[in-house]
Amino acid sequence: MIEVPRALTAESDLIFDDSCDVLIVGLGAGGGATAIEAAAARADVLVLERASAGGGSTQFSRGFVYLGGGTRVQKLNGFDDTVEDMLSYLAAMILNQPEGVADLIVNSAIFDRTERPFMGQSIIDVWDDCVEIERDLKIPEGALQRKLAEYNAHAEQGEDPEFRKYRDYVQPLSEAPFAAFDCSFGAVPFNGFTLGGLKTDAQARVLNEAGRPIQGLYAAGACAVPSAPPMRCPERSRKS
Ligand SMILES: Cc1cc2nc3c(=O)[nH]c(=O)nc-3n(C[C@H](O)[C@H](O)[C@H](O)COP(=O)(O)OP(=O)(O)OC[C@H]3O[C@@H](n4cnc5c(N)ncnc54)[C@H](O)[C@@H]3O)c2cc1C
Repeated sequence: MIEVPRALTAESDLIFDDSCDVLIVGLGAGGGATAIEAAAARADVLVLERASAGGGSTQFSRGFVYLGGGTRVQKLNGFDDTVEDMLSYLAAMILNQPEGVADLIVNSAIFDRTERPFMGQSIIDVWDDCVEIERDLKIPEGALQRKLAEYNAHAEQGEDPEFRKYRDYVQPLSEAPFAAFDCSFGAVPFNGFTLGGLKTDAQARVLNEAGRPIQGLYAAGACAVPSAPPMRCPERSRKS
């Protein structure tokens, strides 16, 4: 049985007289990774967590990898990036397609595992074979069949030489029926959002208002990621 810790309020008569080398506030990915590293370096580590268990928003993370868009830490480390560059990078693959149309083809095994459309994409239709998909989605005859055959040949070996997906996520798309999701630019939200608040330098030291490091105070994780401003790709409707 989980023991729920006693709740303390600001008025609680709290006497805190412990001491440690490294005090970590918050047990999410940032705090957890820091605690592990500090303990590995033989520091005496104490973690304070306000919830009844660790995890924070990390436990909800879906595992997407975000890009930068010109964060301060990127700049401090010599990476030249802007929101516009990030947007055009994200959009380039799709915009380079004829009429900016991109469809995600999945087979029944993957479709069954999908709790909901990945990013709110709408499903276009379901087909029994690739010839029908090519016809309905106006893909040049044979192009999808060749692409799938090539993808499947590598996937049988657990490889994806084109996009280098991790082998656990590589599986042949052979079992019909097939479905297609509309991933065209403008049909799907390509969103960015802001995080954090604390200003840090490249060594994760928290900076005061004058921009000078506050001795002994470091920030890691979402509280220290001054991300790019929110962005959203312009609307663009699919040509039928
Ligand atoms: C639904 C969802 C999906 C996401 N998907 C992705 C994704 O696909 N890819 C991605 O990169 N990111 C994703 N994120 C964001 C990512 O999960 C967070 O940016 C990341 O987990 C933050 O880690 P953290 O350690 O900084 O904070 P958290 O994991 O939130 O940990 C902070 C901890 O600090 C504790 N705390 C706060 N204040 C105090 C206090 N005063 N005293 C003591 N403890 C305190 C909190 O209770 C919490 O446990 C997602 C977030 C959500 C919510």
